[in-house]
Amino acid sequence: MRIDLHTHTTCSDGALTPAELIDAATGAGIDVLAITDHDSVAAYTQLGPSAAKLQLVPGVELSATWRRQPVHIVGLDLDPADAALGRFLAGQTALRERRAERIAANLERAGLPPLLSAARDLAGTGQIGRMHFAGAIVATGFSRNHRGAFRRYLGRNKAGDVRAAWPGVVATVAAIRQAGGIAVLAHPLAYGLTRSKLRELCSDFTAAGGRAMEVVSGAQAAAESAELARFAERAGLRASIGSDFHGPGQPWRALGSTPALPAGARPAWERRDDGIVFTADAAQESTTA
Ligand code: AMP
Ligand code: MN
Ligand code: MN
Ligand code: MN
Repeated sequence: MRIDLHTHTTCSDGALTPAELIDAATGAGIDVLAITDHDSVAAYTQLGPSAAKLQLVPGVELSATWRRQPVHIVGLDLDPADAALGRFLAGQTALRERRAERIAANLERAGLPPLLSAARDLAGTGQIGRMHFAGAIVATGFSRNHRGAFRRYLGRNKAGDVRAAWPGVVATVAAIRQAGGIAVLAHPLAYGLTRSKLRELCSDFTAAGGRAMEVVSGAQAAAESAELARFAERAGLRASIGSDFHGPGQPWRALGSTPALPAGARPAWERRDDGIVFTADAAQESTTA
């Protein structure tokens, strides 16, 4: 069974619409798919008829802060129509809008032309983010491609790396759980943390009610996945898997190419004949009032 629980659409910074993504996933042999746009569940109102061809797990990728470090927390198997989640996401949208203005101002100070309206055009009705500024920088010819734009202008500690006051891990996990979902720490190796800091993040995440972490993310090396499986086990977290697909231009995280979980990793779901179901931890459930 092919499972991919981390993907993006035009509702955030992905290249495909929700309907196009589902068609591409079906074509790539995926049986279970979660669309996890940045701070948005809008995709779940734009699915179209092909959604019935696979098991769709409603999800989201929330921007959060852990000790001033931005981290991403995926929510899976939640109710995308939940009203409190909707209010939480409205707050994220406001943070993203304000941050976009600051990104544009910082980039101008770094010598680029005004890019806010171009970035907004690229975002369309979706959540605006640094990827849209990367597109605007490429369109104006200041970088050859997105990678170059991140390396020079948008990546860690560059002018456009503006930190928003994203909610903390506790509030973020709580928002996911109250909407009926499980919280999954996204791409743990993407934060540039030392191994001891990563261990602390994992244990704080578990204490906050986090359920799993992405043991397999994109085209990460097998040795890294094996190491993350040990981190998860030690922190009492289950394992999840996701390509972090954003569009067809990135073969290292193409749909259907994500390796399976390493042997011995305990997935956050149970297999059934017709798909998967998510398992909430018994101890965690008893703490949920
Ligand atoms: P944001 O959510 O606005 O902070 O933007 C984060 C997104 O930017 C990630 O989800 C990726 O899609 C993209 N991104 C981050 N770093 C890079 C990079 N070095 N190269 C290309 N894309 C990146
Ligand atoms: Mn992204
Ligand atoms: Mn992410
Ligand atoms: Mn992502």
